[in-house]
Amino acid sequence: MKCCACGKFMAAVEGVTCPKCDRKSHRACVKIPEGVQVQPTWLCPDCKIQTPRKSDQNTPVRGLNSENIIKQGEEKPQSPVAQGFKESELALELRKFREELRETRQEFRSFRQEMFDLRNSIKSC
Ligand SMILES: [Zn+2]
Ligand SMILES: [Zn+2]
Repeated sequence: MKCCACGKFMAAVEGVTCPKCDRKSHRACVKIPEGVQVQPTWLCPDCKIQTPRKSDQNTPVRGLNSENIIKQGEEKPQSPVAQGFKESELALELRKFREELRETRQEFRSFRQEMFDLRNSIKSC
């Protein structure tokens, strides 16, 4: 018998049983303390992932329709991602510009310092 959370061997008596797939997991793997009864609504990590979301449950017809819904869902995020990429590029340019500005400012400051030193040396002469 294998734990369905970590895949390692476990004894049949230990662990918790998933009510859906009837597989067992180490208590430690599913974070259920020793001696605590598993809730009837509890599912193993695998079943939790596979459990359809509420929006999917509302879908009346399975098959082609649900496939279309998945495809639409996949296409939708593409444009915001592309926009986000452009924005991040712009932000990167801005950051570069700012860094250049800072460098220019530092150069100017050192230039002023040089002028100051020069003036001091002239005075001392
Ligand atoms: Zn385990
Ligand atoms: Zn399960």
